Amino acid sequence: MDKENFLSVVNKMKLKNKKFFPFPIYLSIIKKYKKFCEINKVVKLIFDKIHVCDFSIETKYKFSKKEKKTIGKKIFKTNSKKHPGYLYFEKENGVFLSGKILNFNKNAIKHINFSKPIEIKKRIKRLKKIVGFHTRNIPHKGHEWIHSLGVKKCKNILIQPIVGHFKFGEYSEQAVINANKYLVRRQNLLNKKQKLSHKFFFSFINIFPKYGGPREALFHALIRKNYGCTHFLVGRDHAGYKNFYNKYASQKLCIKYEKKLQIKIIKYKSPKICMYCKKITNKKCICKNSKNKNSLLDINGTKIRKLINRKKKLPEYLIDNKIFENLKVKNILNK
Ligand SMILES: [Zn+2]
Repeated sequence: MDKENFLSVVNKMKLKNKKFFPFPIYLSIIKKYKKFCEINKVVKLIFDKIHVCDFSIETKYKFSKKEKKTIGKKIFKTNSKKHPGYLYFEKENGVFLSGKILNFNKNAIKHINFSKPIEIKKRIKRLKKIVGFHTRNIPHKGHEWIHSLGVKKCKNILIQPIVGHFKFGEYSEQAVINANKYLVRRQNLLNKKQKLSHKFFFSFINIFPKYGGPREALFHALIRKNYGCTHFLVGRDHAGYKNFYNKYASQKLCIKYEKKLQIKIIKYKSPKICMYCKKITNKKCICKNSKNKNSLLDINGTKIRKLINRKKKLPEYLIDNKIFENLKVKNILNK
């Protein structure tokens, strides 16, 4: 984005051409490389030593420290350095560039883990309804409950793990990909067996999570609309970070902008597990032992992650053990 588009998106959630756009997408260059960035110059963009594309510089711009504070607050709703997305933005100390991508190296796609959107788009175009699911997890039964909620409404679901830029201590990219791929295969076999017309689709997106909370949730929804999804699942604190956002702020904002997004939002309260019958639900459990809401326990993703990493066998009611067996990765967590 050039400066005008950047500011227009931040202030009005619109591009210069009046189209709705919720989150600024920009290219910033660190100080060290600033001197190479002249207007009309073509530079090479490299990722992990691979030439990704050439970039023809059209405009360059800067923001003062004060401007950055104001802009950062509008995007992230905070000026706290404890917020990783805000901190990253504040630290950008070089110059912002806008321009054109030239000579995109298709061989880089495999390396940087892009799956080709065009192929999956073609496959889902024929469907009447399909819901998108955004994840960076090894799916446990709580996630599977969310999938089934989407499938109930839409019959079809696109499971899309995000790849790239994972943090230390989180699931490794390959573990997330393998687990979700396995789940999609398993589910499609099962649907076939039960003669259901439900279909699970899999693709991943390379995206840089900024923990932008509600505004980033809008961006995620917009991406799924562009993939051809008719619905998008937005759970509690989608794209949030710690306690920076109200737990349901992302859902609320997505619903408010449903029309502009041109995709229907499926919101839900987090699923829990009944301590008696081990059923997953987000309402009161209907089993005879469950007398009140207190019989529902949170499904603790962090705890599950720790146990999986220690290769502890978890009960089937928490995670499909085959998912775990089929990980086939050396490192379950990023090291
Ligand atoms: Zn129960």
